[in-house]
Amino acid sequence: MAKTYMIGNWKMNQSLDEITEFFSSIKGKTTKEGNFWIAPQLIHIDRCLNLAQESNIKIGSQNVSNQDNGAFTGETAAVNLKEMGAHFSLIGHSERRAYNFETDEFINQKAKKLLENGMVAVICAGETLEQREAGKTLEVVLNQFKSALSEIEIKNEDQIILAYEPVWAIGTGKTASPEQAEEVHAAIRNLLKELYPALGEKLSILYGGSVKPTNVAELLAMPNINGGLVGGASIKAESFATLCNA
Ligand code: PEP
Repeated sequence: MAKTYMIGNWKMNQSLDEITEFFSSIKGKTTKEGNFWIAPQLIHIDRCLNLAQESNIKIGSQNVSNQDNGAFTGETAAVNLKEMGAHFSLIGHSERRAYNFETDEFINQKAKKLLENGMVAVICAGETLEQREAGKTLEVVLNQFKSALSEIEIKNEDQIILAYEPVWAIGTGKTASPEQAEEVHAAIRNLLKELYPALGEKLSILYGGSVKPTNVAELLAMPNINGGLVGGASIKAESFATLCNA
């Protein structure tokens, strides 16, 4: 059985005061057993690590370099995220693919750096509306994941997490129906069983794209949806706690 995760992607949001308020409000509210993770802005990771100490929330990063170290201005190395205490990094998010021109190969290099440094790679993939309407959803999503996982060996199911995030559903208020999402998740599960026969059933596949307290239960009821990657609805403690307890 795959483990369940609820991961909040705070993107470029939250002031220090808002972060303090979040962690003080969420204390004691994530009552279910589970894996509850937050990716704040890079400059807030240290503060979040301190504030999260009394909770069961783990902290990670929204991005990581594909290089070990050196003259890469503005980049952050996996080894330094790890030494700071970050647990995971998102990679392959559609916003970074679109605005930072990140390629599949680049994302694969980042995944390798995370694993080499003992961090969890949360790998995102998803189709645009145009691709969905052209009937290319499965081809696009499976190819993105195949490339991201190229030449990657894993020893256990905790090293990588996949997140299916249809681009047309991110931040738009439009969510894939549970059936639409499950169709893609089932295909991803088959790919994982092919790539990692011993671990394919145990790897977690999250859904992302306008997940909120009102639709989370029906999404999580699907057999291959093992949690959510959530933007907007993860920013307020009340809403994130409701998602974690769903
Ligand atoms: C995301 O950015 O990963 C995301 C799913 O955002 P939202 O929940 O706001 O659609």
